[in-house]
Order: sequence, then C-alpha cells, then structure tokens
Amino acid sequence: MTRVFNFSAGPAALPEPVLHQAAEEMLDWNGSGMSVMEMSHRGKEFMAIHAQAQADFAELVGLPANYKLLFLQGGGIGQNAIVPMNLLRGKTGIDFINTGSWATKSIKEAKKYATVNVAASSEAERFTRIPPRDTWQLDPNAAYVHICSNETIGGVEYHWVPDTGNVPLVTDMSSSILSRPIEVSRYGLIFAGAQKNMGPSGLTVVIVRDDLLGDALPITPSAFDFKQQADADSMLNTPPTYAIYIAGLVFKWLKAQGGLTAMEQRNRRKAALLYDLLDATPFYTNPVAREDRSLMNVPFTLRDDRLNEPFLKGAEERGMRQLKGHSSVGGMRASIYNAMSVEGVQALADYMKEFAARHG
Ligand SMILES: *Cc1c(COP(=O)(O)O)cnc(C)c1O
Repeated sequence: MTRVFNFSAGPAALPEPVLHQAAEEMLDWNGSGMSVMEMSHRGKEFMAIHAQAQADFAELVGLPANYKLLFLQGGGIGQNAIVPMNLLRGKTGIDFINTGSWATKSIKEAKKYATVNVAASSEAERFTRIPPRDTWQLDPNAAYVHICSNETIGGVEYHWVPDTGNVPLVTDMSSSILSRPIEVSRYGLIFAGAQKNMGPSGLTVVIVRDDLLGDALPITPSAFDFKQQADADSMLNTPPTYAIYIAGLVFKWLKAQGGLTAMEQRNRRKAALLYDLLDATPFYTNPVAREDRSLMNVPFTLRDDRLNEPFLKGAEERGMRQLKGHSSVGGMRASIYNAMSVEGVQALADYMKEFAARHG
C-alpha cells in the first residue's frame, strides 16, 4: 500500500495512526463486539466516546467554564444560517468583515435573517489581505461581528484577534481550528466543520459563550437551537457518531504531538518551506499580503498558465495529489493542515524548485 501526499482543501488528509486505529477497531470497538457505527448513541459505549472527545477537545483549546461545546451536524454552510437564528437575540443587524469567498457566502445567507452591514471589505484588493482594524465601520448596536479566521480559497488568515468591544465576535474557523492555540475567551462563538483539520465531514463543532444562549428566533429548528442542544449535551438528535469517534482519535493524536503550541510550531515550519520558495523565485506568485498569509492553505500561480497541466502531472507522478487551485482563483493550492507532514511539504517544495529550474 502506498499513501499519497494529499494536499486536498477538504475533506482532507487524516493522521495515519488515526486511520490505523480506526481500521483495527472497525468490527469490534474495545471488546464491545460492535463497530462504533452500529452503536446506540445513548448506549454506555458511545456515551464514553462522546464524553472523552469533548473532554480532549476542551483540554486542547483550554475551554473556559462559561462556554458550551456542541458537536452538531450541518457543516460550516449550515452555521451561516444557524448562527444568525440563534444570536440575533432581539437585534436586527450583523456586522461582517468580508475577506473572501467564505465570508461572502456567510453574508449572503445572513441576509435572509438580518440586516447585514459589511463593516470592512478587501474586495477592491481582490481579497489579498485582511482589512486593518482601524478601517472597520462597526455598528455598536450589531448583534455580533462575523469574521472568517482563515479563507480557505484565498489563503488569507487573521494572525490577530479583533477587538470588537461589547459586541460579540463570531468566527468561522472551519479551516484553521486546532492549527494553533485559540484564545477562546476573545470570541462569543466559534464554529467549524470537521473535515479540514479535525476529522471526517458530518461533524460541526460550535463553541459558544453561555450568556448568548436562550433567545433563538422561534423558527429555529430544534436540532439547531444552541440552547436546546447545550441542555441535551448535543444529543437532542442523533449526533454524527462515527465522525465524533474519528475526531476523538484526532484529538488524542494532537495531544500526543504536544498539543496546539507544538502544532503551531510545526505548521509555521511547513508554511515557511512554501512561502520562502514562492518569494525566492519569480516563477511562482502568491498574491496575499505577507502578514496575512494562511498557515493552512497556500495558493500560488505559475509564471505561465500553460504549465499548470505539466506541473500537476509531474506532482501526481511523485505521489502528490489535489494541488489544483480553486476554479475561482486558478493556479495551485497546497492545503497543509495538521495531518500533512513536514516531509510531505518538503517533497512539494523540492518538486517546485526542480520544476521551476526546468521550465524557468
Ligand atoms: C469548507 C468551509 C466551509 C464549508 O463547510 P461545509 O461543511 O461544506 O458546510 C465553511 N467555511 C470555511 C472557512 C470552509 O473552509
């Protein structure tokens, strides 16, 4: 068996030890005689898996006591509707910072439920940077301020937590959660789909400050009412049991790696291998402002678009997959989440150097 270096933006690579353990336990989890997929979510076996995954996640991020951790379904796109339904709390407006494709999607969805104020946008700069905080036109009466911590397509990431005063800060952390330590107490709510950096698709993690709970719009589906789910320990409906189990194994793996501080160091090293190369040769270009470059998603273009196909073909021959950029930006994109090894990124950097020398 040969495993490829998988640079997919999501669903993305998982740590190999996690996949091995899941394979070993597939037919018989821990002497239960059942696969985790076959267990009742209310049985003692799965309840233990669920509780352990919650505890390990809470430990990894240092979850403060006044926050609830929810394991839901619906994905990041679901949260674009679910968050406004839950967090308007009698207010009518939401402030958004538009930094690219994912923030744009969130804005469009929120307009169904609220008055949207785009308090700052980098659209005029083709989303190549985070708008500086002193340019934001925030509304002090907004229900909350929404940001996207890491734009998965554009490769733009916040390397600072914005201060929004008394107005809660909400972030879509789908593609950067657990890639580095998180100052949870700076946020009112954090949401993330699991399939980039935590596990399989199907699980959506929500971290919410408890004073924001309990005033959802009456139309809010019960399965997506944060208060009802918090009261039911995320078991108001059947949770995505197998995805929670795999994510739980990933949390254990992260702890064994040294936790989020160690992950950040490794992720910085990986990203630097690519950005240093992109900056060193005019053959490749990354358009993002240096201080806002993503540690997780590295988009780049080649000097000549006609070289894209040969580049991808050569990469494939060397066991590197899913490097083709998103159709909206073209070129290439290397997604280098936690599960991507330094070795994999080094292999890509070596290949890029070689390709540039051959075609430069
Ligand atoms: C992938 C992604 C999403 C969408 O997640 P779905 O599970 O498809 O709903 C939302 N936001 C960001 C930043 C993402 O990277």
